Amino acid sequence: MKNKKWLLGVPRALFYYYYGPWWETFFQALGVEVVVSPPTSKEIMDLGVSLAVAEACLPVKVYYGHAAWLAGQVDALFVPRLVSVEKKSFICPKLMGLPDMLRAALKPCPPIIDTTVNLARQPEEGLTAAVQGMARAFGIKGSRVDLAMAAAEARYHAWLVGQQQGDSMAAADCREEEPASGVYRYGSSQGKESRDALQIGVIGHGYLIYDQYLGMDIPGKVKRLGGKVILPENLTTLQVETACRQLPKRLYWTLGRKIMGAALHLMEQENVAGLIHLTAFGCGPDSLVGDLAERYARRRGKPFLLLTLDEHTGEAGLNTRLEAFMDMLYRRRSA
Ligand code: SF4
Repeated sequence: MKNKKWLLGVPRALFYYYYGPWWETFFQALGVEVVVSPPTSKEIMDLGVSLAVAEACLPVKVYYGHAAWLAGQVDALFVPRLVSVEKKSFICPKLMGLPDMLRAALKPCPPIIDTTVNLARQPEEGLTAAVQGMARAFGIKGSRVDLAMAAAEARYHAWLVGQQQGDSMAAADCREEEPASGVYRYGSSQGKESRDALQIGVIGHGYLIYDQYLGMDIPGKVKRLGGKVILPENLTTLQVETACRQLPKRLYWTLGRKIMGAALHLMEQENVAGLIHLTAFGCGPDSLVGDLAERYARRRGKPFLLLTLDEHTGEAGLNTRLEAFMDMLYRRRSA
């Protein structure tokens, strides 16, 4: 792939919502042109549902739709084989097989850059191997890779700090140069948040919460109902990990621990009126973490609303449940 300006497709789904800025900055610094699929729409979701196996969870089906949207327009797709992104922890196994599943489903399928990312045992060595593998796909090695990695790390960490400060949480909107139209900015003045707004924790996978179509913009809806939203990404790693120490056993799923830690931390905050947990139909880890979070919330007397989404979820029914929950919280406060 040397000496050619490659068009690399990056599906705007799943871990794009956690590492999008890193990936884009890295590839751009290597001189690769990055094309990110548009925000999820009905067309993209329907495309994904038509291609994916029925047993797949909703976010994986949507990922297929994004990959298929890009397939005819790019020279290659970036679909990393994510095994682990931190020591002694793992990513859901569905993501390990994603490159193979896409090769079987997309006809024709462009070349897939499927670098393995496994930081479970030796995080530093694992990261170096992954980064070199990503660059090697374009015939690049040496100091250019180090420089690209430094640029990616710098942007990524600035983005994380912004999230913790409650800044434009729109992970969906992490591309500064091309904000997705209509993306709700959690730090903006939209909605009717006031100083005595009810503080509501909204927990769940980033690829559900920040994908406005897939996640039905729950944070935006809460804010329009007068709530102030707190998201897992607004918390620090220390807050999340400290809260997780209450659990009798360490959760070894990275996202499960992040969600559970955020839930436990928010339950301890007196000024947090309630929690909303957004889950995906067909998600094994969610069924476990959702139940665990709900049990802890019940023990601590913290109101808890579980919303499970699939491709057939109707927005009207979801709005009704959300409004009833918020109404109950207002009554509780004024009782
Ligand atoms: S963690 Fe759940 S929602 Fe995420 S990819 Fe795995 S099964 Fe799907």
